[in-house]
Amino acid sequence: MILLQNVSKSYGKTKAVDSLTLEIKKGEIFGLLGPNGAGKTTTVKILTTLTKPDSGSCFIDGIDVLKNPQEIKKIIGVVPQENNLERELTVYENLLIYGMLHKVKNLKERIEKILYTLELYEKKNSIVTTLSGGLQRRTLLARALLTEPKVLFLDEPSIGLDPHIRRQLWQIIRKIKTEGRTVLLTTHYIEEAEALCDRVGILSYGRLIALGSPSELKKDVGEYVVEFIDKDGNLLSEICHSREEAYELAKLRHNGVTIRKSNLEDVFVKLTGERIEK
Ligand code: ATP
Repeated sequence: MILLQNVSKSYGKTKAVDSLTLEIKKGEIFGLLGPNGAGKTTTVKILTTLTKPDSGSCFIDGIDVLKNPQEIKKIIGVVPQENNLERELTVYENLLIYGMLHKVKNLKERIEKILYTLELYEKKNSIVTTLSGGLQRRTLLARALLTEPKVLFLDEPSIGLDPHIRRQLWQIIRKIKTEGRTVLLTTHYIEEAEALCDRVGILSYGRLIALGSPSELKKDVGEYVVEFIDKDGNLLSEICHSREEAYELAKLRHNGVTIRKSNLEDVFVKLTGERIEK
């Protein structure tokens, strides 16, 4: 459904996206994971026609993004990182204006349906500024879904949301997947990628350094982690492939030794030597 071939984009000397080749399947929830500055937003901006790459090509549903941006806009929905709702208007008015601008057919019925699906119906007459951050995010999502996009782009969908609201949002994103839509989201929350994504691409300095389902990535890099405290009191960890290997490693350590299952953050640290900022 989404295809990037050798896509690169630099800002001055910074390579924001570096020879990115990636295929995302129809109906998949795909997560671009990486620390701040890894190139996630730039990739989304390229695919959503907001910026042009220096080289490479990209297609969505077979349409060339660079040659036919107007066609692309008809089949995608975008939830940007920043909240760009009309804040002094109600939820309903925001959806109505957006739908009219985008010539959505049967607009009023469509709005009603989306308000129900996203559990926003009771808030439809609320002014945006009176809503919590979570409900404002949901309104952004409702707006992006009005045009029934084949592909939905979510840039850091749960940034700034508390854990409970974040989980509610994940449920809604799963619901969107069941409608057959493809979802590409960027996140630097490991937990989000692990809970939500069918597959994950890890970006570091604009390069794709790993690709697979969360469980495949853990299997490839190591499913167990030995944590211990070194002589200077630092908590360190080593990732390994089997429980036996973990026990052998643990025997060599003396302070604060624990063995646990690995998570995507361990995979990321192993591959890049960096920690993801929380
Ligand atoms: P974040 O999680 O902070 O949003 P990101 O992974 O989305 O990070 P990008 O925003 O794509 O990363 O940025 C990739 C690199 O490109 C960074 O080094 C950033 O400073 C740089 N960059 C992005 N946009 C611009 C711009 N308009 N002008 C100059 N540099 C930019």
